[in-house]
Amino acid sequence: MTTQTLTNWARNITYGAGELHRPHSVEALRTLVAGAERVRVLGSGHSFNEIADPGPEGLFLSLTGLPPEIEVDATARTVRVGGGVRYAELARAVHAHGLALHNMASLPHISVAGSVATGTHGSGDGNGPLAAAVREVDLVTADGSTLTLARGDERFGGAVTSLGALGVVTALTLDLEPAFEVSQRIYRELPLVGLDFAAVSSSAYSVSLFTRWRHSGFDQVWVKRRVDRPTVDFPWAVPATEATHPVPGMPAVNCTEQFGVPGPWHERLPHFRAEFTPSSGDELQSEYLLPRPFALDALHALDEIRHAVAPVLQVCEVRTVAADAQWLSPAQGRDTVALHFTWIADAAPVLPVVRRVEEVLAPFEARPHWGKVFTVPAAGLRGLYPRLGDFRALAEALDPVGKFRNAFVRNVLDF
Ligand SMILES: Cc1cc2nc3c(=O)[nH]c(=O)nc-3n(C[C@H](O)[C@H](O)[C@H](O)COP(=O)(O)OP(=O)(O)OC[C@H]3O[C@@H](n4cnc5c(N)ncnc54)[C@H](O)[C@@H]3O)c2cc1C
Repeated sequence: MTTQTLTNWARNITYGAGELHRPHSVEALRTLVAGAERVRVLGSGHSFNEIADPGPEGLFLSLTGLPPEIEVDATARTVRVGGGVRYAELARAVHAHGLALHNMASLPHISVAGSVATGTHGSGDGNGPLAAAVREVDLVTADGSTLTLARGDERFGGAVTSLGALGVVTALTLDLEPAFEVSQRIYRELPLVGLDFAAVSSSAYSVSLFTRWRHSGFDQVWVKRRVDRPTVDFPWAVPATEATHPVPGMPAVNCTEQFGVPGPWHERLPHFRAEFTPSSGDELQSEYLLPRPFALDALHALDEIRHAVAPVLQVCEVRTVAADAQWLSPAQGRDTVALHFTWIADAAPVLPVVRRVEEVLAPFEARPHWGKVFTVPAAGLRGLYPRLGDFRALAEALDPVGKFRNAFVRNVLDF
């Protein structure tokens, strides 16, 4: 057990609990859960809001005391991974078996269970969120009993991107594919005027566009090509001649290898290397996911308010995500474009701009990222998630007393 002031990675949230419990076995964890009135689990703490906060009365659990299980089944091409494991360790273990995950987020530092709980994603027209790889979830539910929900079960649509509201995820089983190599190249200066968004986003396995909204267009485009697939030219911008970090002024050594040098999937798909600070380290983040056909109109709408956005922005990243089936996934049921904002670390000037961005993106059915800063009220979220009622019914069935529903969950899901 750790007693200290507990904050998230960005240090903008101080969790209400003064203690973090780290049980060393699933049995001990089940006993703790059964005896507690309120429970929340902390993953790696990379969310920017109160989603993980148990409040002052709640039991705060970390799974980092459990054995860090990573069991690869090379024949079935699956991996069973413990609830406290991070993508960096998982990716290395999977790669050692000649296998791969379909995609990664911008950083490998985050826990697998916490990432899929919030709908975390990377980029790529054909790549679903990280949760799309999950085929089975092992839970400890409110009364301390265990439950496995697998693909094919009618409840599975609520089981993965669950905001931590169904129970403690003690393990996940993920689909794998044969390992592949990726080459990453950065291009500079892509104008918004005349942009063929679909052509750009479909030109490689994973594409990210970066802008500081200081002008109408993108300062950088990160193009990650699978070397086992035909190369599509990128005629719209010029290749960078220097190593580049997405946030200007930050050291490029923190970033994964560039200049088209082929390398393993897990050392190219994230932007940031596991052994360095990701992003700027001093920031807030927001992100909105909308149907991909709205991409260009939404970018032009943001361009119209760029004079308000730019002063509090470190960088904005535009990615694509394939539709998935998780009921609470921001990419649920629709091929998606994700508009991400790395803000300065000062909430006072940032929040009014967040509201302005939300107003501008609301007509495009923008769903906020569950793990980032947003102000959209429950009433606004309700119409955006057709399966929200199914999720609430599942949460109530598995956890009738609301042991796993903290203030954040009660607020956004209108419990
Ligand atoms: C620098 C940086 C870069 C980022 N880049 C991306 C990106 O590229 N793409 C993207 O989509 N997001 C990105 N994010 C957001 C991040 O992926 C999400 O916030 C994600 O949830 C972080 O995982 P975590 O383990 O830190 O979760 P936490 O913040 O610790 O927890 C998130 C939720 O998961 C629950 N949870 C965690 N573990 C368990 C468990 N074992 N059982 C039950 N519930 C659990 C928590 O209770 C909470 O509700 C980034 C964040 C940072 C700080």
